[in-house]
Amino acid sequence: MTLPSMFTRNKLTLILSAALLSQAALAQEVPAPQDQPYQGTVQLDVDITNVEQKIFSMHEVIPAQPGKLTLLYPKWIPGNHSPTGPIALLAGLKLTAGGHALEWQRDGLDMYAFHVDVPAGATQIEASYQFLSPIDKAQGRITATAEMLGIQWNTVVLYPAGYSARNIQFQPTVTLPRGWKFASALEPQQQNGNRITFKPLALDELADSPLMAGRHYKRYDLDPGAKVPVYLNVFADNDKDLEAKPEQLAAHQSLVQQAYKLYGSKHYGHYDFLLGLSDEFTDIGLEHHQSSENAVKPNYFSEWDKSQPSRDLLPHEYTHSWNGKFRRPADLLTPNYNVPMQNSLLWVYEGQTEYWGFVLAARSGILSRDEVMDYFALMAATFNSSAGRSWRNLQDTTNQPVLNYHQIGSWGNWQRGVDYYDEGALIWLDVDSKIRELSGGKRSLNDFARQFLSVNNGSHEVLPYQFSDVANTLNSVQKYDWAQFLRQRLDSHGPGAPLEGLTRSGWKLTFAEQPTDYEKLTDEAGEVNDFSWSLGFTLNKDAHLVNVVWDSPAFNAQLSTGMTLLAVNGISYKADGLKTAITAAKGGKEPIELLFKKNERYLTVRMDYHDGLKYPHLERIAGTKDLLGEILKPL
Ligand SMILES: [Zn+2]
Repeated sequence: MTLPSMFTRNKLTLILSAALLSQAALAQEVPAPQDQPYQGTVQLDVDITNVEQKIFSMHEVIPAQPGKLTLLYPKWIPGNHSPTGPIALLAGLKLTAGGHALEWQRDGLDMYAFHVDVPAGATQIEASYQFLSPIDKAQGRITATAEMLGIQWNTVVLYPAGYSARNIQFQPTVTLPRGWKFASALEPQQQNGNRITFKPLALDELADSPLMAGRHYKRYDLDPGAKVPVYLNVFADNDKDLEAKPEQLAAHQSLVQQAYKLYGSKHYGHYDFLLGLSDEFTDIGLEHHQSSENAVKPNYFSEWDKSQPSRDLLPHEYTHSWNGKFRRPADLLTPNYNVPMQNSLLWVYEGQTEYWGFVLAARSGILSRDEVMDYFALMAATFNSSAGRSWRNLQDTTNQPVLNYHQIGSWGNWQRGVDYYDEGALIWLDVDSKIRELSGGKRSLNDFARQFLSVNNGSHEVLPYQFSDVANTLNSVQKYDWAQFLRQRLDSHGPGAPLEGLTRSGWKLTFAEQPTDYEKLTDEAGEVNDFSWSLGFTLNKDAHLVNVVWDSPAFNAQLSTGMTLLAVNGISYKADGLKTAITAAKGGKEPIELLFKKNERYLTVRMDYHDGLKYPHLERIAGTKDLLGEILKPL
């Protein structure tokens, strides 16, 4: 085939687009969700016995009327705040009515919508399909291994368009691998061997109640004797990793009591932490109203002196039951999973949750006070050096999940990422310390949390909020121009991060030649060596540059990610050797000579850097009160 001339090509394009447009005009519309009940209950049968090939097989029986029907696969995923529904992993879709095959047609514009004509006389249709759970990490999250699996219902469900999720009833059934145990906020109705049928519930509750199952399982009671139970359900690659020592269990039990003291309410009938400890099952932290999905490395309990970097996870996800699930930004509260979400208040949803996650970790003893201080030091330094602030304010980073879900760009601190989490935490420290200062220590952000989150105690119904509700509640705790205070921090371009909260709490950011223990553990867990605050780059265990700080000495020496460091001053690269070279060059005149390889090219870089190793720490400001220490004390 030869290429047509430019003129013919343009003409062809015009003819083709006209044809496509008329086809789209003829195509069935995707009905918008209405607040009306869907007649009947959808039966959803999920068979996950094939963990070896990670193929989840579904069968659905959908009550239906003759005529046009559109089935949707969830696209906008709560907690992801983004259109991350893994539609490409849905396969094998076959629809039938009365045993006869029905042709379906995918919507021409919306890849998540399937149109079908329900034949006359039919009262239901049946759908069978698979979710091809990723086999390789490059395809997505590993959600099934030989030892454990997780079901996120949004990945295995098709639902009728035209109705709000809360108006469609489902009855889910799961068939597990033989001998496996499961945990979920779902309530079982019946169990026959490895087949469990759950009580019928609305789609919004189903999608919010994931299930975790596995061969090795242990359940801990985090609130013994309570009317509203809280359980920690642990799944691991082996029995040994399931074991929590008495002091570890006590810290997790204390988390529940500290949360109750802080929030003054509970908005669930029972709560289940689902915790996977595995090398293969992909790490996750995803909040739900009555449960949370958590997965970290296997050493969570077994190497308690190393697992600090993952220990803020449970306090964070638990906090979301109040902040995020019960109280939710109005622009995130969509009627179903195919209506776009907006993320303007993620600096409350995630930022304040990040703050309470670390504060509760310290109050409960899940982390030590010093470890949480070290976290604040690390974040203060990270965001204070965020060059991207000059073009992109913090408010705009709340669009990040939709732009590029949790992916880090080549120029992370220029592009900015999901900064509303941890810079958000710095802002909430700013607010907390300001309330304490203005009220002479009588009130604090604890009062805000209680007022904002304890309303309608016991209610599961989502209570939406807007920016003005946040500012008004702050005002009722302590009179001040909070709207202006917050907007200034959200909309401004620096210079530097909002560190006034630290200063007001009696602490300042400094740098030392040794990292804090917490940073050391974070780098070990991430298998990186971080020279961000000295040369301006981070290396992974294979000596690849995985981050180059914009405007740093490394940036100005033309370095970029993807390069491999081969040698330092003529000697093969080792992290300790590079540290020694940086220290030796401190205060001197001789540059540090680095040999890099990029694809087939070798590159020698002489770095005139003489300020020595630098790692962030917090230092007490003499003569001030230690407010941060106060904040981190148990209630
Ligand atoms: Zn979160």
